[in-house]
Amino acid sequence: MKRFFLENYGCQMNVYDTEGMERLLIESGYARTDAPETADVLLVNTCSVREHAEERALNRLAELTRLKDQRPEVVVGVTGCMAQRMGKDIKRRLPRIDLVVGSQALPAVLEGIDEAEKARARGGKHKPYIGPQTLDHYLPPPIARTGEPRLKGFVTIIRGCNKSCAYCIVPTTRGPEVSRTPEEIVAEVQELVAAGAVEVMLLGQNVNSYEAGGVDFPELLHRVGAVRGLRRLRFTTSHPRDMNRDVVQRMGTAPRLQPWLHLPVQSGSTRVLAEMNRDYSLAHYLDVVDAARAAIEDLSLTTDIIVGFPGETGEDFEETLRLLERVRYDTLYGFKYSPRSGTAAASREDVVPADEKQRRLAALLEVQKRISHERNQRFLGRTLEVLIEGRDAKRGNWLGKSGHNKTVILPDGPHAVGGFVAARIERAEGLTLYGTALGRAAE
Ligand code: SAM
Ligand code: SF4
Repeated sequence: MKRFFLENYGCQMNVYDTEGMERLLIESGYARTDAPETADVLLVNTCSVREHAEERALNRLAELTRLKDQRPEVVVGVTGCMAQRMGKDIKRRLPRIDLVVGSQALPAVLEGIDEAEKARARGGKHKPYIGPQTLDHYLPPPIARTGEPRLKGFVTIIRGCNKSCAYCIVPTTRGPEVSRTPEEIVAEVQELVAAGAVEVMLLGQNVNSYEAGGVDFPELLHRVGAVRGLRRLRFTTSHPRDMNRDVVQRMGTAPRLQPWLHLPVQSGSTRVLAEMNRDYSLAHYLDVVDAARAAIEDLSLTTDIIVGFPGETGEDFEETLRLLERVRYDTLYGFKYSPRSGTAAASREDVVPADEKQRRLAALLEVQKRISHERNQRFLGRTLEVLIEGRDAKRGNWLGKSGHNKTVILPDGPHAVGGFVAARIERAEGLTLYGTALGRAAE
């Protein structure tokens, strides 16, 4: 039996796509291997969102192609956003690549492998298979059960993005928005739950623009939350532009919804937000935050921030720091702006120097580190429901997650992965909580 090795880079939606490709390959008779040296087909599903992500994937692909020195018959391919963005130009960086299949045509990966093998058999000059620009059929959903039962499942509900943030390559790589039907989504969640999942994360670049057959995102949340056996429901990512008090209130009452919201702000300066083409003001964003906190009790709030967008002044950056103090996020993902060719901001000349971007990122993370620590203190002495997700064998600890998406560490005890325990929190540090299990958590 032929074997494939498939490695993923990038966001949760890429994880979902990778698992869909895995299903295609398994259903076509391939077996999975985690050891590249034993694989007949090696694929890397890539991310383009920042230059660094592309460099990492290119280096990994160069390393994997070197396996051809010993075994010239292996097929090495690049899939996903970088393949979509660069197309055949990727040959310049990876002259020995055998197939290139972009994120909008992933089902073509099987044809690509076939064609690459035929080309090899024919001999002659090396010419990689370049997949179509786009396909109107999608990958099948991932197989819910591949060996180990899994506790958590990702489900993509909307593909692509119709926004045009000035820094972002995603609309180019992923194409326009297409919502899946609510029936398909609910069926996939039911399948995951039947296979042992207790938590589901709904995915989209902008879940709030979901719309299919008259069902909007809050309605979809209610339908998914009602799936029997599902204990935890999460979603990411929300765009502040498509949220308002009414939407937030309807979302907040969905069954099984966990008190966690990832709401990327990108900058605390309304001027920079306008230049980023985010299409909301800081005042609107803060209004959504207040509404979410009113609708969802004890909400844990996280965000994404880009520092050093072209033209960002020291004062703009100070506004971002003030925003952190105002909103008091539980945590954040901070990024240095990375110009992406083909985006509106890429041609701007008023760039922020690299060392200044680095300084701003460090300052941002420093402020947030203190706030995250302070925010975690609210859990001291409280009893939280913790889903046990694993064991740290070396330390003899159990690791779990609270509904707020906080890591909770419990001392050794008679727990099992997948169990829910009630835990009293005794110590809160940085991003982690330490507690003692009191017993099984009520359903
Ligand atoms: N669709 C989501 C949204 O609008 O918030 C996020 C998509 S993107 C994959 C994830 C994060 O990467 C963004 O929120 C942004 O902070 C960051 N990002 C995107 N493009 C970037 C760029 N060119 N440079 C630095 N960070 C970037
Ligand atoms: Fe990129 Fe903006 Fe779309 Fe998010 S909403 S994927 S940041 S263009």
